[in-house]
Amino acid sequence: MIPFYKYVFHNFFLLIVYNFFAIIGVHFSFRRNETIMKKNADIQKNWENTLSLIKDEVTAPAYDTWFSKLTLLGVEEKSKQLHLETEREIIVTQINERYIHLLENMVSASFDENYRVVVSLRKKEPAEKSSVVPALSQNTEEGDFFEENYLNPRYNFDTFVVGNNNEFAYSVALAVAENPAVRFNPLFLYGGSGLGKTHLMHSIGKYILDNHKDKNVLYVSSEMFTNELVKAIRDHEIGPFKEKYRNTDVLLIDDIQFIEGKESTQEEFFHTFNALYDRSKQIVISSDRSPSKLVNLDERLTSRFLWSITADIQPPSYETRVAILTNKAEYENIEITEDVKMVINLIAEKIKFNVRELEGALERIIAFSSLLNRPITYNSAKEILSELITAADTRITIEAIKSEVSKKYGISIKDMVSSKRNKEIVYPRQVALYLCKELTNNSLPKIGSSFGGRDHTTVLHACKKISALIKEEQKVKEEIDELIASLNMQ
Ligand code: ADP
Ligand code: MG
Repeated sequence: MIPFYKYVFHNFFLLIVYNFFAIIGVHFSFRRNETIMKKNADIQKNWENTLSLIKDEVTAPAYDTWFSKLTLLGVEEKSKQLHLETEREIIVTQINERYIHLLENMVSASFDENYRVVVSLRKKEPAEKSSVVPALSQNTEEGDFFEENYLNPRYNFDTFVVGNNNEFAYSVALAVAENPAVRFNPLFLYGGSGLGKTHLMHSIGKYILDNHKDKNVLYVSSEMFTNELVKAIRDHEIGPFKEKYRNTDVLLIDDIQFIEGKESTQEEFFHTFNALYDRSKQIVISSDRSPSKLVNLDERLTSRFLWSITADIQPPSYETRVAILTNKAEYENIEITEDVKMVINLIAEKIKFNVRELEGALERIIAFSSLLNRPITYNSAKEILSELITAADTRITIEAIKSEVSKKYGISIKDMVSSKRNKEIVYPRQVALYLCKELTNNSLPKIGSSFGGRDHTTVLHACKKISALIKEEQKVKEEIDELIASLNMQ
């Protein structure tokens, strides 16, 4: 038996020790809080000033997408860091990869201090059970095909890699998903095959289903719309057809170029479009061409499309291609070893215009390596890809470029390769040289010699000149984009 006084003493002693540590603990954590993160009205004001400087530097959709959803946590004086937080992983990656320098420059302008900017991910509140619609894989040649509003869960905003080629389209699509039928209605997305139009349309659909549970979404390819219409007419069930399409909150209609030349489909779509638009429902249309290039279309429809918000998607740059492939490899649980990096760079160098082909090439290599149970190496990849690569290499040729450019500017190929130096000929020649360097894998000397034995420095000079013009003049950019698009379609 412990005497009572010992018991009291013992407990008292423990209490003191406990409180001592507790006090020290509080003290430490207090110090930590004080030295680690500081945030006050001045800091907040400087941060707001930083944001307004950024607003002047980037496009409005880019600002809305990447910067408006950042929260300031505070600054850490000792390590000179400014901490930001966001709920979306893609914002963290995009800021780190593309905007960190801009952000740090603007921070140092507003704070008068050089802070390193650290963006971290805030854990989301656990979401309510989402109503993701199961994928129905029924593959057609053109890629994934889903019935009605069945959306592919892999196609969402977080798995979409953003680069300069698709940033506007991505931002507008996200804005539509966040606020359907508010600012960007109708939305018209266009771009070549395999550049992510369907991916963005599914992303919009999935986001709305997850976040606006009261809205119903209908995703349909124009081919399916046409087939259903034909069937409805045949079965005398046009009523239910009309009801289905005119009573949705969001209509996503893919590959509208398919209805070119199909008069009754166009007529029906025109009425569907008007019915939805009049009731302020969101319409998103995709096409492989801009509205003005859809020639076999009823003028009434073309004019509706022309007053929509249009966003084009261009082929991705080399860096974006590498990022897409790296993401894809990670998604497939492939370890990104040095060999895998080399393989990714190889594919990205060779396949330039179609993300579907880019991914297909990587899938092929992954399949071979798992089939043969061998690691992925540069040489084996090269072998596996040789067929694909030659196909990609030979698709756009110097001759094809010469002929497309000569058509566009109305000069003969003979003049293009001649030594004539008048302006009407020099400019198209430089455009052609630029395209040969960008779109083919020929060396500069080879390109030069195909243009009347010109020196490789002439080719280089032409490329620099046209690259500069593309940046300075919107008209030149559009001309070049059009040439690239028509060469890709051949
Ligand atoms: P489109 O409808 O324009 O022909 P898709 O949306 O079907 O093209 O895209 C083809 C494939 O490429 C899909 O698997 C898609 O996920 C992928 N893809 C296209 N663009 C991107 C991107 N920016 N980031 C990630 N994946 C992409
Ligand atoms: Mg598509």
